[in-house]
Amino acid sequence: MTPLEEVRELVLTYCSPRAPKMVPRMNARGLTLASDVVATEPVPPFANTAVDGYAVIAADTSRVPVELRVIGEVAAGNVATQSVQPGTAIRIMTGAPLPDGCDAIVMVENTERIGEEAVRILTSVQAGDAVRLAGSDVSTGSTVFQAGTVINPMVEGVLASINAQNVSVFPRVRVGVISTGDELIDDGSPLSPGQIRESNRAMLLRVVAEAGAEAVDLGIVRDNEGVLENELMRAVNELHCDAIVTSGGVSMGDYDIVKAVLGRIASMKWFQIAMKPAKPFAFGTINGTSAVVPVFGLPGNPVSSLMSFELLARPAIRTMMGMTHAFRPRVRAIVDENVLRKPDGKVHFDRVHAHWGTDGRVHVSRTGPQGSHQLAATSVANAIMAVPDGDGVSAGEEVVVTFLGPDSGPSRR
Ligand code: AMP
Ligand code: MG
Repeated sequence: MTPLEEVRELVLTYCSPRAPKMVPRMNARGLTLASDVVATEPVPPFANTAVDGYAVIAADTSRVPVELRVIGEVAAGNVATQSVQPGTAIRIMTGAPLPDGCDAIVMVENTERIGEEAVRILTSVQAGDAVRLAGSDVSTGSTVFQAGTVINPMVEGVLASINAQNVSVFPRVRVGVISTGDELIDDGSPLSPGQIRESNRAMLLRVVAEAGAEAVDLGIVRDNEGVLENELMRAVNELHCDAIVTSGGVSMGDYDIVKAVLGRIASMKWFQIAMKPAKPFAFGTINGTSAVVPVFGLPGNPVSSLMSFELLARPAIRTMMGMTHAFRPRVRAIVDENVLRKPDGKVHFDRVHAHWGTDGRVHVSRTGPQGSHQLAATSVANAIMAVPDGDGVSAGEEVVVTFLGPDSGPSRR
């Protein structure tokens, strides 16, 4: 058996980022910038007010209360036609450009209106108060984002604010997902003896997408070597998949056709990983007509499939998209129950619920039965806990926990 870290490192050496390309910002969601972004416009584009209030000359408010004549009004989107003179003020709304002549804003809460024409200022202001200067968020010519930044919603907002219409990114990786097995049914029809509902593909297509990649549904392939070979080559050469994830057929059985086909058409490595679940794992590359495509051969048992994807395929796919944070967040947590196990040379990854304890630490407890076919208990877990080889861990001990899923992180309970 090979340690997980060793397999992961090896897989990653075959998964380098794709060549960068320019894409419209709207299509760059979740992708990684391949070059620095330099602002060509300042944000904000002009000096404006941070509050609703009155544009004044700060010196006029050195002694308060003081009455100023209101000579006009300006709202966001407009420009004041008058300029502020000593003894006068202009009523102004948040975001409106600073009128000429003024150097500070008094917030409306610190004023009293005296009819239409005058205002009483109740507190003094200093020059610059409540003024947002041009370029005070982003200045022209500054490097706003460095290559390697992931375009999260906030980054997307900033890119919009500087009018970056197109950005250079590592392209989204197209990942083909294929399930294999004569027993699998996905059309809702009644099960014949020996058949089961197909579940891996539904799950894997979603975790591929959640990893930031584009999932390509390659359907179910029966345990037929010729069909599987055709389907894999079609995925590489016609559907232009950048990576392929298969589930099932990589263990030691006679019907493990994925093993047979990949052994023939790809250069593969077959692993027995020192972990439970998901001990068998295959990785290799298919030489297509125009690309060399990594293939991840995940085991068929649904929990094993998910775990191999999470621990091996997901970091690799994210690395192919130039992401430097390819891994899920990990923390040390307190286990709330005794977890007994036997020494078997493997790390056991138990599915747990992680939550904040009253001691301010993250605590975990298992979500249910841990069999590799028992996806239901895994589906309600928000983390996995590594139980090192040995006799287990006792309640109150520390374990390393990796968060799972899009809502990653401990819950409040
Ligand atoms: P295999 O790795 O093909 O030997 O499959 C191991 C176990 O996982 C068997 O019980 C299969 O029926 C089951 N299995 C394989 N593929 C899937 C799938 N796509 N959905 C649900 N169960 C599956
Ligand atoms: Mg099978």
